[in-house]
Amino acid sequence: MVGFAEDLDAILGARTAKALREAFGIRTVEDALRHYPRRYFRRGELTDLGDLSVDDDVTVLAEVASVTSRPGRRRTRGKPVMLTEVTLTDGRHKVTATFFNQTWREKDLRVGRRLLFAGRVSRFRTGMQLVHPDYEPVGVEEAVDVADGFAGAIIPVYPATARVSTWRYTAAMEILLPLVVDLPDPLPRHTRDVHGLVGFAEAMTMIHAPKELAEIDVARHRLRFEEAFLLQAELLRRRNERRAGSAIPRTPAADGMVAALDERLPFALTPGQLDVAAEIASDMASTRPMLRLLQGDVGSGKTVVALRAMLAAVDAGAQAAFLAPTEVLAAQHFSTITALLGPMAQRGTIMGDDRGTSVTLLTGSMGTRARRSALLAAASGEAGIIVGTHALMSDDVQFADLGLVVVDEQHRFGVEQRASLVAKATGETQPHTLVMTATPIPRTVAMTVFGDLDVSTLRERPAGRSPVTTHVVPALTKPGYLSRVWQRAREEVDAGHQVYVVCPRISSDGEPATAGYPPTAVEDLAAYVAAGPLQGLRIGGLHGQLDSDEKSRVMAAFAAGPADADSGIDVLIATTVIEVGVDVPNATLMVIIDADGFGVSSLHQLRGRVGRGDTPGLCLLVTAAEPGSDAMARLESLAATDDGFRVSMIDLATRREGDVLGSYQSGNASSLRLVSVLDDADLIELTRAAAAEVLHRDPALASEPGMREALRRLSDRETSDFLEKA
Ligand code: ADP
Ligand code: MG
Repeated sequence: MVGFAEDLDAILGARTAKALREAFGIRTVEDALRHYPRRYFRRGELTDLGDLSVDDDVTVLAEVASVTSRPGRRRTRGKPVMLTEVTLTDGRHKVTATFFNQTWREKDLRVGRRLLFAGRVSRFRTGMQLVHPDYEPVGVEEAVDVADGFAGAIIPVYPATARVSTWRYTAAMEILLPLVVDLPDPLPRHTRDVHGLVGFAEAMTMIHAPKELAEIDVARHRLRFEEAFLLQAELLRRRNERRAGSAIPRTPAADGMVAALDERLPFALTPGQLDVAAEIASDMASTRPMLRLLQGDVGSGKTVVALRAMLAAVDAGAQAAFLAPTEVLAAQHFSTITALLGPMAQRGTIMGDDRGTSVTLLTGSMGTRARRSALLAAASGEAGIIVGTHALMSDDVQFADLGLVVVDEQHRFGVEQRASLVAKATGETQPHTLVMTATPIPRTVAMTVFGDLDVSTLRERPAGRSPVTTHVVPALTKPGYLSRVWQRAREEVDAGHQVYVVCPRISSDGEPATAGYPPTAVEDLAAYVAAGPLQGLRIGGLHGQLDSDEKSRVMAAFAAGPADADSGIDVLIATTVIEVGVDVPNATLMVIIDADGFGVSSLHQLRGRVGRGDTPGLCLLVTAAEPGSDAMARLESLAATDDGFRVSMIDLATRREGDVLGSYQSGNASSLRLVSVLDDADLIELTRAAAAEVLHRDPALASEPGMREALRRLSDRETSDFLEKA
């Protein structure tokens, strides 16, 4: 009996197993079965050769129209190289297959034969050619007639590489497919019956060796269902597991810090913020751990909502940890929180408020002394709020009583990282968890990506946020626009405002600049503008390689801005360290160099750094992308909308979907092959309900061994992907 997780050596032989591993990362029986054909040929039907483009690796079914061999112009060892040119046709178009010094190919490639050819397309005189293609007869060449049953049959074409051709893969499948009957079906019988789905073995035969085209659809329907179903089942199972944990209810005192913060705030919370706050408060009052995702566009005011939740934990005698993805952001949160709390953040000092607590910062680059005192504050319980980066997750960090974990910009962290912080709660209970993301995402995506969380959304932006206008600057085709960028920067500064310029790199490492295009590295651009277009302005540089004291100094100088005549910064040239969260309301212009190199979500985050005060923001996307190119189209669609929801749709549509169980944006090993979280919303809803039904009936899946094992494999694969990435 063969199992899903069995490796292929014993079944296919070590050589083939190795080739599949190297070509496609296929290791197990399941991996091989899930490598589905990319398309199908009908025997006798030729591939349209008019569709080929240069540099594609193609597999085509074509007929030999002519074969000639002749001495070519090149010579080796004194003899001319023999050229064999084979004209292939689909009846309308022609492509040349070329072989060097292999005249014996003429015997294989007789006129009128129909074969599968695989190779890379290159240009040839006025047409296309395949140089030294692989080929394989498909059993139709001698005009096999319909009577022998082959003529209508279908040939699967697999994603192939030079080493593993599609027919080699087909041969491996011929060995594997008969073994499939032994494999337990991952879908429960009942689910299959209700939804009219074929069994696993049947689906495999239909997708890898269909007898009719209609079978392919039947198989795909079943496999798509299975894929979405298992993913939803796994997410639900995890959710149930977590919910089964217990937590300590944390409710704020009526006259505690939450109330005191509300009194102190210079603004009123929006109705949306109040709604979300109420949801959070009710979650935190429960003996089940809160698992809530707060999504809200850049600038929607998530921080203050998080702070209220943290204060509720502190009011209840516990601590809160606030995890930020970068040092700059952690430092910024630390100062925002300290400022919002005022005297409440200084308990224990003479300035402190009795109703207060103390706030501590913990990052990886802190000196030993500072680190030790932060660790002590966390472990002793003296610090009610601990703000930090990944450093919070290291082993020596302990909390007296961790009641709440807040994770900012969740998309930067993996599920496992969050779990490792949650594990720091003492005893049997779990802390409440609030994760926040500025990339608002469609419901089905949220369900899949964050399937184990409840979702709250902040839809409106607080008053005082100004709109941001975005323009694309095609620097190479419209040089005038580029000088206007710098002129505009100067105007902003003259008007008392400040400017960000974001570069993709820290240093150019001596790489020459493109003529007519600004330098693309922080260091070079800073030197260039200081000596040229922005001469006389106060320019600062910020990037991840500066030590943390220098980073804080630069950020503070930029935050101080024109107000500080001695050390203020007008123009901050930075890498994407400023992407998230940085809040300097006086900054009104964001210039992004080589904008096409960034993802649209990043660009949206970046432009969210301006328009934070009462003056409208402007974002200029400088690019060398060609007019009409995909990259240009992406930038133009970003410029056309300021709505974070739309942006995330553009983003998802242009990005390969990552392994959604793990790190959301990682983009490799995909557990979704046939299903798209974006396009298959209905399927995801349907399968989520079906999975919930099965788990409700049989939570341990005692009578569904096939499904139980499939879920185990899914979560093992994810863990190993995670470990490989780490
Ligand atoms: P994000 O959701 O991107 O993290 P922030 O929490 O940084 O947004 O908030 C952006 C800005 O809006 C901050 O300066 C914050 O103080 C301000 N803000 C938050 N809530 C309100 C409100 N209800 N009214 C006015 N300004 C607010
Ligand atoms: Mg934020």
